[in-house]
Amino acid sequence: MIVKYWGVRGSIPCPGPSTLRYGGETACVSVEIGNNLIVLDAGTGIKKLGQYAAATSMDIYCLISHLHMDHIRGFPFFDPLYQTDRTVTLIPLVLDGTPHYPTVIMDGVYFPRKWEDLPANIVMADIAADDYFGRLGFEVNTFPVNHPGDAVGFSIESEAKKFVHVPDNEIDRTSDKFSILVQAIDNADVLSHDAQWVNDDLPMKEGWGHSSVTELCDLAVELEIKNLVLFHHDPDRTDDELDVIGRSATERLHASGINCSVAFEGMNITI
Ligand SMILES: [Zn+2]
Ligand SMILES: [Zn+2]
Repeated sequence: MIVKYWGVRGSIPCPGPSTLRYGGETACVSVEIGNNLIVLDAGTGIKKLGQYAAATSMDIYCLISHLHMDHIRGFPFFDPLYQTDRTVTLIPLVLDGTPHYPTVIMDGVYFPRKWEDLPANIVMADIAADDYFGRLGFEVNTFPVNHPGDAVGFSIESEAKKFVHVPDNEIDRTSDKFSILVQAIDNADVLSHDAQWVNDDLPMKEGWGHSSVTELCDLAVELEIKNLVLFHHDPDRTDDELDVIGRSATERLHASGINCSVAFEGMNITI
C-alpha cells in the first residue's frame, strides 16, 4: 500500500512563508491499495488530492475520523465530486450507532451547493468500514480514541502489512480508550499519530484531545513501533520549529531503533 500525506495540520489551515516546507493544509491522508483510493479525512489537504484523484480511474472511498472542521472543511472542494462519470463512496463514521458523513457541510447553508445536486454518483454506504472492505481483499478497521466529541482512528491491513493512522487523540493512560489504542497499534508497520503539543504546551492544553511529542514517543518505545510519523501539527508551529521537534524525537527514539518522520505535505510511504 502507498500512503500519501496531503494535509498535516490540525485545527486551522496556516499558509505562509513559515510553513512552506511542511505545509499549511489540514488533515487529509490517502492510502492506495491496487485500484482503490481510500481517503482518510477531508481537511483542506483534500483539494490537492482531488486534483490527483480526478485524473485517475481509481475507486474512491472517503472516511472521516470525526466531525471537527479541520477534518471535513475541504470536502466540498474534492474535484471527483464534480465529475459526471465518477462514483464516490462515503463510508460512515458511526458514533453511538449514528452514521455521519462529510456531506454534513453541504446542506446549502455552509456551502452554496447541496450534496444531493453533485454531478458525481455519491454512494452513502450503510455499513461501517470494519464490515465494508473485506470483500475487496484488505481490511480497514476503526477504533474509538480519546478526543472531545468522539473520534476514531484507522487501522488498514493489506498483504500482511499494517498502517495505523490516528489523526486526533490525547494519550491518557487512565482513559478507557487507552487499552483499545494499544491493541489497535499492536504490530503496526507504521504508526501515524497526533503529536500537536510539545511539553511547554502542557498542562494548559490537557483535555483538548491531542498528544505531546514526548508522550507519543514514549508510547512508541513501549509498544516497539518500527516507524513513527508525527501528524496533526499545531498551526502555530513553524518549519524551523518542526525541524527541532523532529530532531529531538529522533534522538529520543534512536536507542530503540525506531524510525521517526515529521509528516509534511507530499510525503509518501510505501508499506
Ligand atoms: Zn483535528
Ligand atoms: Zn478534532
